[in-house]
Parts: sequence; structure tokens; C-alpha cells
Amino acid sequence: MRYSLFALLRQGLMAHRGWTPAWRDAAPKSAYQVIIVGGGGHALATAYYLAKVHGITDVAVLEKGAIGLGNVGRNTTIIRSNYLLPGNLPFYEFSMQLWEGLEQDLNYNAMVSQRGVLNLFHSDAQRDAFVRRGNAMRLHGVDAELLDAAAVRRMLPFLEFDNARFPIQGGLLQRRGGTARHDAVVWGYARAASERGVDIVQNCEVTGFLRAGERICGVQTTRGEIRAETVGVAVAGNSSRVAAMAGLRLPIESHVLQAFVSEAIKPLIPCVVTFGAGHFYISQSDKGGLVFGGDIDGYNSYAQRGNLPTIEDVCAGGMALMPGIGRLRLLRSWGGVMDMSMDGSPIIDRTPLPGLYLNAGWCYGGFKATPASGYCFAHLLARGESHELARAYRLERFASGDLIDEKGQGPQPNLH
Ligand SMILES: Cc1cc2nc3c(=O)[nH]c(=O)nc-3n(C[C@H](O)[C@H](O)[C@H](O)COP(=O)(O)OP(=O)(O)OC[C@H]3O[C@@H](n4cnc5c(N)ncnc54)[C@H](O)[C@@H]3O)c2cc1C
Repeated sequence: MRYSLFALLRQGLMAHRGWTPAWRDAAPKSAYQVIIVGGGGHALATAYYLAKVHGITDVAVLEKGAIGLGNVGRNTTIIRSNYLLPGNLPFYEFSMQLWEGLEQDLNYNAMVSQRGVLNLFHSDAQRDAFVRRGNAMRLHGVDAELLDAAAVRRMLPFLEFDNARFPIQGGLLQRRGGTARHDAVVWGYARAASERGVDIVQNCEVTGFLRAGERICGVQTTRGEIRAETVGVAVAGNSSRVAAMAGLRLPIESHVLQAFVSEAIKPLIPCVVTFGAGHFYISQSDKGGLVFGGDIDGYNSYAQRGNLPTIEDVCAGGMALMPGIGRLRLLRSWGGVMDMSMDGSPIIDRTPLPGLYLNAGWCYGGFKATPASGYCFAHLLARGESHELARAYRLERFASGDLIDEKGQGPQPNLH
């Protein structure tokens, strides 16, 4: 069923009784050409591009619960391509370009809103680092603008500008960055993949791998064995757990990241803003709530809930940047499990086991990567070789030392 103004009017006349389910909740078959483990944004996007770009439709997406309840439905929805390093910048810019055409491509309103992403700086050294990043972006044809304090004040007059501890000196703005409705991205990809024949199998947890010698030739699940020529794993925060079922140890730690939403207020924040003197970022949802977050919780965990000291730390960052936020009531908070890689960049690669491929290490920035990650992982699964934009995201870089460490922080998940 195609969504359009005409379809909406027609359904309106029929008291909205004629809408059909957006995707098929399929029962698993005994074998597929490709299985993708995990029903998050990356898995569903991969399935969609496998069908659309490579014509491979004998595909199953196996999700242990319901699709969209993992990080893809728990993030703060920021999309951007303001990266520095050659391994990252072209990839994230490709993702940005896919976001720009996504709703037409999927025939689904994902509420992509290019309202801008502004990174504030508070010192000369930080300004120099942002100038360098902005120049790298512009050299790659990506939009970037350096704002001085007066320009930031015109945009966001309610910020704390003159606080002696963290005076705002300016910011790096990417106007094409912004937000997208996270769960609509899941539904849009699921619908478009399902329409092309992909089986989306929910409540089907992968509990092990089937082998023929070294080769992976399928999976064991809570709904029985399923064979496949190719198995891709895209389970985000559960990457190390699932890889361990195949005997692999990944350079990934799982940490909780929390998000917060305030009560709704009238339109106040026109873009996404990040604090440069602490870990805090904020935007305003279309419903009016302020959506914000900060640091990961300081311990490894697979639990989708965070702890109180981090809530206090995030709120302290918010108060330092925007003291008025202290008058708002916090409405909701939740946590998601992040697959933190040791250089802060992802992995899209084959594994040492033939037939098994890995998409992981998205840290707290994988939502914006969803379209490009799906596109490049589909390329890898279909052709057995990396897409040129994802060539740097090799698993063996952690052995060879060719790391893609945007901030030069080393293997410290909380600093990426
Ligand atoms: C609070 C928070 C804020 C964030 N903010 C941003 C942001 O603003 N911008 C941004 O770019 N990124 C952000 N992120 C990161 C982003 O959400 C993730 O990097 C990205 O969603 C991960 O990819 P995914 O969507 O495929 O993961 P998920 O949605 O987590 O998908 C993985 C799926 O695998 C399933 N699974 C796990 N194990 C198994 C198994 N054994 N068998 C079958 N299925 C299994 C899980 O149930 C899950 O549904 C944020 C994350 C959090 C938690």
C-alpha cells in the first residue's frame, strides 16, 4: 500500500479502516540465502538495500524481541556528518545524503529535520580543533560554518555565555545536520524491506551458530535451526555476546548510555546544541520536550537502564550550559546498551570465520549511520568485499594499529 495524500484522504472517508499492516511478521523458513541477526536500524536497512540494490530478497532478519526496541528506538535522534578523519567523513556524508532522500525512497515519513547541529567551543585550543575539523569537512564538500560568540548569541540567546568558568567563544555549525524520528526509521525500513520479500522474524533469538567445519552455515534460534549461505550480525550492544557464540572475541565493550526528555514547552531550541566544556547535548522534539543526554555510565553492562550519578552529571552539564533548564521537570529517562569500540569507530567486515560477517562498534553515534551502514553492509554481504566507503572499517585494524580515532583518545570508551 503506497502512502500519499490521496491515500490519507481515501482512508479518512473510510474511517481509517482500510490501512493494512506496515510489514509482514513472518514465520521463519528452514533456509535463506542471507540471515541478518538483530532487528535494529542497521539490520533492517541492510535487508532493504540487499533487496533494492542487489536484488537479493531471500533474506531473513531475526530479532530476539520486537523490532525497534533496541538502541534504534532509544537514541536521541541526532544525524550529522561533521567528522574529521578520512575513514569516517566520506562514510557519514554518504549517510547524510541518504537521509536527505530517505523519505521519498522508503515512501515513509521519517520526520527528517535538517535543523542544524551546533558544537560549542569554550577555549582557543578547542576553537582551533573545530576550525581544523570544519576545514576538513569543507575540503570534502561537506557544509561547515564557524560562528563567533555574537552569532551563537543571536541563535541561542538563552545559553549561559559569560559564566566565568565556561564562557562560550563560538561554535561549529553544520546546517544540514539535525534529527530524524528514530522509530519511524525502523518502521520505514521494515515496511520497505518486507514489501520486497524480506522476512522479518520477531521473537526469534539467535542462540548459536551452525558450522560446516570452519564455515558458518546457519544459526540456532529459539524457533529452531535456520540454514543460510551468509550470516550477518548487527546486534549493536550485544555484539560481543553474539560473537562469543561463534568463539570470537571482539575489541568492543558494552556500556549503558542514558537519554532524558523534559516536559513539553513552547518552541525554544532551534537546532541541536552540544556543550564543549562537558558531555551534554540537547535538542527539542516536535512535541516540545527537551531531549538531552551526556556521558555513558561508567561501567560495563548489558542492562538497558542507567544509574543515578550519571543522571546528576548530565543535569549538571545542562545547568552549566543553560541554567533555565533547572526550572523544567524531567518527564522520562531510559538507557540503551552501546557497542563501544576501542577507537570509537565502527566495524563493517568479514570475520575470520567464512560465511560470517560483522556490523558493530557504533558507540553512541550509530543512528546517523543507519542508512550508510545498511548500504555498505548489504554490499559486503552480497559481494563478499567491502564497499569503498567502508573499507577502513576493518576488524583487523585493532591488530595492525590502523585505528580511526577521531579524537585521539586511545582505548577509553568514555572519551570517544
Ligand atoms: C540513549 C542513546 C542515545 C543515542 N543518541 C544517538 C544520537 O543522537 N545519534 C546517533 O547517531 N546515535 C545515537 N545513539 C546510538 C545509536 O542508537 C546506536 O548506535 C544504533 O541504534 C545501533 O544500531 P541498531 O539500530 O542496529 O541497534 P539496535 O536497535 O540495538 O539493534 C540491535 C538488535 O539486535 C537484537 N539482538 C541482540 N541479540 C540478539 C540475538 N541473540 N538474536 C536476535 N536478536 C538479537 C536486539 O534485541 C536489538 O533489537 C544513541 C544510543 C542511545 C542508547
